[in-house]
Amino acid sequence: MRVPFLDLKIQYESIRDEIAEALQQVLDNTAFAGGPFVEEFEKDFASFCQCEFAIGVGSGTTALWMALSGLGIGEGDEVITTPNTFIATVEAISFCGAKPVFVDVDERTYNMNPDLLEDNITPRTKAIIPVHLYGQMADMDRIMQIASVHGLFVVEDACQAHGAEYKGRRAGSIGDAGCFSFYPGKNLGAYGEAGAIVTNNTELAEKMRMFRDHGQAKKYYHSMIGWNARMDGFQGAVLSVKLKHLPGWNDARRKNAQLYNDLLANVKSVITPAEADYARHVYHIYAIRAQNRDAFIRGLAEKDISCGIHYPVPVHLQEAYAQLGHGRNSFPAAEKCADEFVSLPMFAELSAEQIEKVAREINCFLERSTPIGPHSRPCRKFRPC
Ligand SMILES: *Cc1c(COP(=O)(O)O)cnc(C)c1O
Repeated sequence: MRVPFLDLKIQYESIRDEIAEALQQVLDNTAFAGGPFVEEFEKDFASFCQCEFAIGVGSGTTALWMALSGLGIGEGDEVITTPNTFIATVEAISFCGAKPVFVDVDERTYNMNPDLLEDNITPRTKAIIPVHLYGQMADMDRIMQIASVHGLFVVEDACQAHGAEYKGRRAGSIGDAGCFSFYPGKNLGAYGEAGAIVTNNTELAEKMRMFRDHGQAKKYYHSMIGWNARMDGFQGAVLSVKLKHLPGWNDARRKNAQLYNDLLANVKSVITPAEADYARHVYHIYAIRAQNRDAFIRGLAEKDISCGIHYPVPVHLQEAYAQLGHGRNSFPAAEKCADEFVSLPMFAELSAEQIEKVAREINCFLERSTPIGPHSRPCRKFRPC
């Protein structure tokens, strides 16, 4: 039995007819760039996010960049985020002309550690981007409180957190703006590239809507310098279909995560993800931490199990950001986690048998690789290797 890291096909097959009909409607209406199918999705997605407005754009990266520049962030400003994120979070800061400033993460949730936030605020700081990594929201009450004391904007990077909650409030609805990616592999994935900004700020929403369409409210009358950042019609239609299924898919991911947690609870040398008291985690990624990560991944690959690493190199150690001058040990928690992270197969349609196989093979691999010590005794939950 093969266990892929992600299987987009199995989900597509479950909604094939709905998708075909939705795409046909776009064709029949020739509504290819922006248009009614994007608008319908925006309405539904705003309400899903407990927000007043959603603005569909071309990608999550674009959403982040637009939200920051829409809030007036630019040359000479500093924006605070975490180093263990997908590089797009930081690229968005750079493309506004601002300087990225990192704070280390909490070692259990892998999200921004609010205890370290205030030390990094300077007179140039304009905004904070908490990244809701892997589908679990950052500690938003504390971040919002600090932001409000210092007069800073908060832009949520919710690209991995569609439907995640913080004390019952949805990702994207707490900060000044929330940015989403609909890259195909995300919990809500388009069949191409797409993203969105959600907000309750009327002025920002109007600005974003104009900006993504060359700064025009009326065709060929341009009141500001904008850009072409529209969502395409096919993506709007696909996303409307898929949004209806998202709550069920997120529930399935949570159930899969629970089964992994149960089966791996006795395996002492791996650290399983922790769901904070405040959180409803939607497990975009189910990342464990393991020693000798490369051998671990190879061992599972030999058993037809595919894993990922999100992310092997934290942004402050990426070559692209060498000019910031951060060396090793700048952000010890993020670095330690980056060395140990292994993302196990995770998607809604993963079967219990597949999850059991992954847990069993992890147990067997650790047995083989540690002949003496705490793992020499087989864990009771598993058949002998
Ligand atoms: C996917 C992702 C992005 C970028 O989204 P794209 O749609 O690929 O541009 C940004 N931030 C995080 C945390 C992501 O996971």
